Amino acid sequence: MFQASSFIEIDVQKYRTNLHFIRKNFAKNRELCLVIKGNAYGHGARCMAKLAIDEGITTLAVFEPSEAAEIVDLVGDRCRLIVMGGVDQSLQWLIENKVEFYLYSLEDLHNTLKLKNKMNKQKALVHLEIETGMNRFGFEENTFPDLLNLLEDHKDFIQVKGISSHLAGAESISNFVRIKKQIRAFDRSYQTLSARLGQVQRHLACSAAAIRFKKIRLDMVRIGILQYGFWPSQETFIDYVMGRNDQNNPLQRILCWKTRVVAIKEVSIGDYVGYGISYMAEAAKTIALIPVGYASGFARKLSNRGRVLIGNKIAPVAGLVNMNATAIDITDIPGVALGDEVVLIGNQGSQSISVASFSDYSDQMNYELLTRLPAHIPRYLVNEKAPTRQ
Ligand SMILES: *Cc1c(COP(=O)(O)O)cnc(C)c1O
Repeated sequence: MFQASSFIEIDVQKYRTNLHFIRKNFAKNRELCLVIKGNAYGHGARCMAKLAIDEGITTLAVFEPSEAAEIVDLVGDRCRLIVMGGVDQSLQWLIENKVEFYLYSLEDLHNTLKLKNKMNKQKALVHLEIETGMNRFGFEENTFPDLLNLLEDHKDFIQVKGISSHLAGAESISNFVRIKKQIRAFDRSYQTLSARLGQVQRHLACSAAAIRFKKIRLDMVRIGILQYGFWPSQETFIDYVMGRNDQNNPLQRILCWKTRVVAIKEVSIGDYVGYGISYMAEAAKTIALIPVGYASGFARKLSNRGRVLIGNKIAPVAGLVNMNATAIDITDIPGVALGDEVVLIGNQGSQSISVASFSDYSDQMNYELLTRLPAHIPRYLVNEKAPTRQ
């Protein structure tokens, strides 16, 4: 194998800290479903699925069937797996592999029923997604009579595992009225449906909703961003710490994106570095090259303004970020050698480059930046051993 030009480390101890925090605060006496769509928010779906299951997680959720296919072998019977987005061509595969999936229209239900004779006693395990006001996916109330009749007629094939909906922006207080309306609509729909279907698992809350609205944690919470150590928004963090004695952030970032120095150059005053004339050395400079550019998710916007960590110090990007390489000014950091570790996101010594600061420089939000970290970057678990107790 060739050496990867950059790699991502996932800190297992920090992940455990986050899980403990989530369980204690938001998932007490209810099921915790961890959302690992978008390649586990860039952390690596296989890596994170394995880690979650080893930590005793009983439900994982992804968005697309292809994401389920990527991890189904390591999930096996140890954990439920839910597909929360559209299903189309994959229906038969989902049923055969006991993957649970969202149904959100009568057409999808009819398509599922078409497979009934083919499936030879295997059941479709479904979650009904209810339209409550986000106006994205979901059964409208006027479809309930047909929906309930069909479900009753085909009880032997379709097993309803849950009833769910998704809130339109619980991370921002400006959506408060809309969210409240959605919660009421969900309650109403659940009453109607469960009167005929019996009690099934209700789930409505993502991270922001679980933080903000205690009452809607219901039977299961679907937690994505928190497990990776990020708050859904600044507002939700403030909401959480307000009125608490300890106002420290209890979450820990678990991802560290690293590369190495592959070349070092001395440039004279007045020399240009890289393509074009965007960077001219205003004095004699030492430049380190790293083999990471915008093809690896290091945004071109970071040209002349991004920062990385080398030798436990902060070092600025010099010139344009290229497709596969970037120059770093290390003039003020003596002793840097070829092969030295460079941190693009994460900690080194007492310094850190947060995803938030990285995304400020590149105008991306946390969720977006993380999911854009290319899937081809290898992910490794580090710091797996429990610390020895003092
Ligand atoms: C992404 C997603 C979640 C998790 O959202 P976070 O804000 O990351 O906690 C929950 N439910 C659904 C339907 C989602 O698509």
